[in-house]
Amino acid sequence: VTVGNSVCVGGDAVVMIAGPCAIESEEGAVSLAKQIKSAGGHVFRGMIFKPRSSPYSFQGLGKAGIPVLRQVREQSGLLILTEVRDPFEAELVADHVDIIQVGTRNMSNFQLLKHLGQIRKPVILKRGMGSSLEELLCAAEYLISYGNTDVILCERGIRTFEHFTRFSLDIGAVPALKELSHLPVIVDPSHASGKNSLVWPLTQASLAAGADGVMLEVHEHPEAAFSDGTQSITPAEFAKISGRAGKVAAA
Ligand code: PEP
Ligand code: MN
Repeated sequence: VTVGNSVCVGGDAVVMIAGPCAIESEEGAVSLAKQIKSAGGHVFRGMIFKPRSSPYSFQGLGKAGIPVLRQVREQSGLLILTEVRDPFEAELVADHVDIIQVGTRNMSNFQLLKHLGQIRKPVILKRGMGSSLEELLCAAEYLISYGNTDVILCERGIRTFEHFTRFSLDIGAVPALKELSHLPVIVDPSHASGKNSLVWPLTQASLAAGADGVMLEVHEHPEAAFSDGTQSITPAEFAKISGRAGKVAAA
């Protein structure tokens, strides 16, 4: 899948997607994006519509975040990814971003998938936390059969009885999805583990299993993040991971 004429997901190089759980301010986002770019990142995850489990948690900047996404793209040179939860949000962001994300909670939002099938922007489709690989592939089929073949699958951990980690990363999903489909597969070790100390080991495991890229949550001050601070790594940690990822994939 070619994104923004410059990045190929599913080609020879590992694609590094990075950014905060949610954009908190323009200044913070631009500063972080510049650091991600100089560390070798390709795509900035700039989330403005957050599907939070609790209605009392930070919900994202919403529509007010769209000019921030434009600023980040202009000032950092990174491609932009954002998540949408319904067709209305998809229409709002379509002209301002390079990839649209469907999160775990919306993998089975078929009306959204049909709509994104018609928009024809590359889509990252995250596996539902309680969904089988077949269900994930059927969700991808909605996008494709409605006209959008630029689909990137994302393993982001599934619910199991294990609670030390936030979810259980299904590493076997990576080679299995490659066997079952032609679509590129990336992994999100941040949401899978919920712990920043596990991000690098799980990144290595993902790349060793054949993942085409990873999506990592990065924050300048993880302890002060509005959301998901415990799983966020610092820009310095991201730079270290980014510098070593290609070597792991090559090995
Ligand atoms: C995210 O990537 O911002 C996110 C909320 O992830 P997930 O849908 O996998 O929980
Ligand atoms: Mn998050």
